[in-house]
Amino acid sequence: MISQLKDKQILFAKKLAAKGKAGLFFATLFLALIIISGKIWKKIKYPFFQVVSFALICVFFVTGTSFIPITIMDADSTLAEYEAPVIEKELEDDEYIKTEVYKEDDVASLDDLISGLNDYQTAAVTNNNDIKADDEGDIYSRFDKNDWNLLLVNKQHPVPDDYIFSLGTIKGSMKCDERIIVNLTEMFAGAAKDGVNLIVCSPYRDLSRQEYLFDRKMKTYIAKGYSYIDAYKEASAVVTVPGASEHQIGLSLDIISDEYSRLDEGFGETKAGLWLRNNSYKYGFILRYPKDKEDITGIIYEPWHFRYVGSDAAGIMYENNLTLEEFIENL
Ligand code: ZN
Repeated sequence: MISQLKDKQILFAKKLAAKGKAGLFFATLFLALIIISGKIWKKIKYPFFQVVSFALICVFFVTGTSFIPITIMDADSTLAEYEAPVIEKELEDDEYIKTEVYKEDDVASLDDLISGLNDYQTAAVTNNNDIKADDEGDIYSRFDKNDWNLLLVNKQHPVPDDYIFSLGTIKGSMKCDERIIVNLTEMFAGAAKDGVNLIVCSPYRDLSRQEYLFDRKMKTYIAKGYSYIDAYKEASAVVTVPGASEHQIGLSLDIISDEYSRLDEGFGETKAGLWLRNNSYKYGFILRYPKDKEDITGIIYEPWHFRYVGSDAAGIMYENNLTLEEFIENL
């Protein structure tokens, strides 16, 4: 029995060691405990003390295991499987990345956009700020919810199976719907004029990339001890459910600046965040997930996520503080 317990303890200690310094501490403690208890056990004459010492070992074991998420303590979990959630925990550092991850070299500045523009027609951006007051009554009649730029994609409205569009290259593997690249470049140029250097950090994403991001977030919550359902609820509030992400239709981009590269609420209060919030509509983009609209969009406040809807629609949404969901309802 002792040797069985010892084997279990050693496996457990290895897992703890994989966890890091705190784990190492417990691993050492347990190994010492096994050796000592093994030797002492044989010398204990009274069954009462044997029971007491066994109980003490159990208490230590239970205390130790409470440091490991319950979900990965199943019988089949191997060390390799165990390590996965540990990595998730490091990535999960909310202060740095709230929802989406990008690599340092996977970003595009205004210069990158301009150098890539040669491939596209430099059609003039129409700044449609000339909506007259007497147009008001008929303001929505010019729009059709089937317009490509107004395509609503959210949890209730997944990307249509037959949705087709042409991808244009922003830089390297960074792509988006080619119809918005000129507007995007104009917006970055406009920001630069005001002393704001914007950077694209996450444009178009295919379904598999979205699945990866969602799956990773799910694992993070499960590792924290959430049930599958609760993990799904939490994950879907911060990472869009695969098949329901606007990034998949190439019309949304995550934008940061050279001064602030974190995807968190703080970006909204930076010069770049404020500039985007107040000027992006002129170029056809909207702040897609505003503060205090979470109940409508189903997504937390994301001051870095901008969606192209066309400058006409963007102007109306900006002026009237409407989300795309609310705007579409008027059509
Ligand atoms: Zn985004």
